[in-house]
Amino acid sequence: MFLEWQQAQSDAYDTMLATVEKTLREPPDARSERRTAWRRCGELGLLGLCIPESYGGGGLGALDTAHLVEAFGRGCEDTGLVFATSAHLLACAVPIATFGSPELRARLLPAMCAGDSVAANAMTETDAGSDIAAITTRAVRDGDTYVLDGAKSWASNAPDADVFVTYAVTDPTAGFLGTSAFVVERGTPGLRVGGPLAKMGLDTCAAGAVHFEACRIPAGNLLGGEGAGGAVFQHSMAWERACLFAGYLGLMDRLLDRCVGHARQRRQFGRRIADFQAVSHRIAEMKLRLEGARLLLYRACFRLDRGDHTAADSALSKLAVSEAAVRAASDALRIFGARGYLVDEGLEAALRDTVPARLFSGTNEIQHELIAKGLGL
Ligand SMILES: Cc1cc2nc3c(=O)[nH]c(=O)nc-3n(C[C@H](O)[C@H](O)[C@H](O)COP(=O)(O)OP(=O)(O)OC[C@H]3O[C@@H](n4cnc5c(N)ncnc54)[C@H](O)[C@@H]3O)c2cc1C
Repeated sequence: MFLEWQQAQSDAYDTMLATVEKTLREPPDARSERRTAWRRCGELGLLGLCIPESYGGGGLGALDTAHLVEAFGRGCEDTGLVFATSAHLLACAVPIATFGSPELRARLLPAMCAGDSVAANAMTETDAGSDIAAITTRAVRDGDTYVLDGAKSWASNAPDADVFVTYAVTDPTAGFLGTSAFVVERGTPGLRVGGPLAKMGLDTCAAGAVHFEACRIPAGNLLGGEGAGGAVFQHSMAWERACLFAGYLGLMDRLLDRCVGHARQRRQFGRRIADFQAVSHRIAEMKLRLEGARLLLYRACFRLDRGDHTAADSALSKLAVSEAAVRAASDALRIFGARGYLVDEGLEAALRDTVPARLFSGTNEIQHELIAKGLGL
């Protein structure tokens, strides 16, 4: 069982953290600067960590991928960028690398790893959020093509995306086996992307709706064969629920460091506020939740790499990390007092950026369902 990092893994983490702190610390202002930051992520290997080296990726397993995403999240205060790159890698590049044809992989993955293209995962529809079996987007085979019709209501990265991984019903009578996964490329007639949604947080990750209107794509853009959509989605969610949330471990490490520093330096009633047990124990609880969540995340990744991972493993990890992250941001605001409420401190942004972690990649209520199911309930 994995318990400690080897020296080479610790060195890779330290190097990534130092580089990110030096070159990617602050959120960019404009869209053009977002593209520059994206390319920088490509140069650092963050966009292809677990993609085979033959396509320009890092060839890493889930555990090493998560470790470097964690370093990214710790060094980069732009959580929108950390989220956007992880969604691109785990919900788009991973399914293309695992289920795409050799031609599709060779055509799309090198640019995705290098930072020359952006990908979005479009599953959710207005009437199909948690209940993904209720999607109504249809794909009908026509010779060497599929014709897609329908609307996806929320896809992170969509307004900036060049590549879309999406899901549509190919056989309405076949249930789980009636959904298929497809790649749609920007510029395809019949593909229309909505403008950026006004969101609470993750500001630098633009999200939008995606519409398919008689959108004709080559049959070679199918991932994993007709009817494999449910399995492709489950596979990408296993990776996303495990590795994407590592960015939030890094964010929590940063919040913890800041709280410890502030509690030791800030004085009230003639003493450091760290000397008040109400403050020091709040920080101890932050540490407890962080380390528990970290172990669950590493274990989910370890099992993903070993090949005996279950849906409950990543559900436990996703649930623990996201709940710990929201609590950590809210605790940090209290420890900093009114100073924490100031925008320039970055703590209100941390709170806005952690709240959606309870919702995406399957809500935390759905994670509870998966854990209960794993227990045979
Ligand atoms: C920041 C962000 C990024 C996102 N990025 C993407 C993306 O890139 N691609 C994409 O396709 N989607 C994306 N989504 C959408 C996300 O996947 C959905 O929001 C999520 O699946 C929940 O669906 P919903 O919002 O329709 O909520 P609903 O399914 O309507 O749920 C509403 C409430 O009911 C609860 N609920 C529903 N069913 C059950 C049940 N069976 N048992 C217990 N409770 C239940 C939910 O937990 C929730 O509390 C994103 C969302 C956010 C907030």
